[in-house]
Amino acid sequence: TWGRVCKDLERTIGKNNFVTWIAPLEFRALENGVARFGVPTNFVGEWVNRNFGDKILEQLGRNGVAVDRLEFAVSSVKSPANAASRPAPVVQADQRSDTDLPGAPLDARFTFETFVTGKPNELAHAAARRVAEGGSVTFNPLFLYGGVGLGKTHLMHAIAWELRERAPEKKVVYLSAEQFMYRFVQALRERDMMGFKSLFRSVDVLMVDDVQFIAGKDSTQEEFFHTFNALVDQNKQIIISADRAPGEIKDLEDRIKSRLQCGLVVDLHPTDYELRLGILQQKVDMYRQQYPGLVIADGVLEFLAHRITTNVRVLEGALTRLFAFASLVGKEITLDLAQDCLADILRASERKVTIEEIQRKVSEHYNMRLADMVGPKRHRTIARPRQIAMWLSKQLTQRSLPEIGRRFGGRDHTTVMHAVKRIEELRVADLQIAEDLEMLRRMLEG
Ligand code: ADP
Ligand code: MG
Repeated sequence: TWGRVCKDLERTIGKNNFVTWIAPLEFRALENGVARFGVPTNFVGEWVNRNFGDKILEQLGRNGVAVDRLEFAVSSVKSPANAASRPAPVVQADQRSDTDLPGAPLDARFTFETFVTGKPNELAHAAARRVAEGGSVTFNPLFLYGGVGLGKTHLMHAIAWELRERAPEKKVVYLSAEQFMYRFVQALRERDMMGFKSLFRSVDVLMVDDVQFIAGKDSTQEEFFHTFNALVDQNKQIIISADRAPGEIKDLEDRIKSRLQCGLVVDLHPTDYELRLGILQQKVDMYRQQYPGLVIADGVLEFLAHRITTNVRVLEGALTRLFAFASLVGKEITLDLAQDCLADILRASERKVTIEEIQRKVSEHYNMRLADMVGPKRHRTIARPRQIAMWLSKQLTQRSLPEIGRRFGGRDHTTVMHAVKRIEELRVADLQIAEDLEMLRRMLEG
């Protein structure tokens, strides 16, 4: 019956709502007029109950199940931080399959209109724009690279959308390097290499995302190389992305590297504060169109842009969660609320301190040479700061004792253990040391 109820619900509340909120529910039991569900987080339970509770009761009733009340309890322990930070990916994925093109669907949210530009990505954006104008092929291939979540896929989809608009007659194919490989392997298995080749050689614009994936996969590389050359020879546009520059992709054949380099290579730099703020602002504006009542206190966006520096995906997830939370409790989004609601994300994006930084700061503080941190000298004036640096490494990094030992000139892990214990003792017994440690820790955690 739950299956049938689900179908009806999907019709009444819409597919997006259904996928986001109802699909994660796990129907458990029906006892004494109470329907029990398992939910991934408390938040989802509350949200569903508040927003869809009546609809669920109604549909259960229509399907002949008399229920007075719904109960939600957290079930399994699925990666909570991530799952909860992305509650509503309202994707209207593009389902166009009118041709036999081998591409992957495009995300409706990834367009040029929604791409915020700033110093770190302006070159990549300009190059993408140029290619999307679809005129003559000026640089081939366009190679976009950069770290996770900096907008490579977004830009590629934007190019594809734009090209469809401007030049609907062109065959534009977007897919990941992984999908390229599966296609290739499938063709091998089905002994249809001819079909594979003619399919890929017939496209006008080929986009391959995350090309580093095919590194080390020899026959896929080989086939990719041939496809690439055939298209370039026909003056067809190719757009490639990777997580690093062509020359830096290990286990990629040299001839492919040099091929990839002969067009335009542009990188997406890590975001800066202004770009992050711009992106947040844009998301808020978009959200306001749907929910005009949204109130965000001054300083909240600035706080997020300042604190969440890792990648844009995490930044977006944080904001999505804040929106959901604020509309759930019907409150203004204040700094306090943000700090509470995003505690896990904020903790995870705390700046990572490295052992090198610790060694540098500590040796500066105690006026000793950095080389002595890792050197053999055992005089107190050197050994003590070294121990302090080891203690800080233990406290502030995720490194194991043997690893820390190695970074301190190949010392044994028992030496590190001894140092950590000694400093713990001194921290209690020696006020000066306690103050030093506190100050160093604050400086390092910035
Ligand atoms: P990548 O492919 O580089 O790992 P994505 O293109 O998937 O990263 O981007 C991750 C998320 O961040 C997407 O939701 C994307 O829309 C968003 N994003 C990244 N850069 C920008 C930007 N400059 N403006 C707006 N959204 C962005
Ligand atoms: Mg990507």
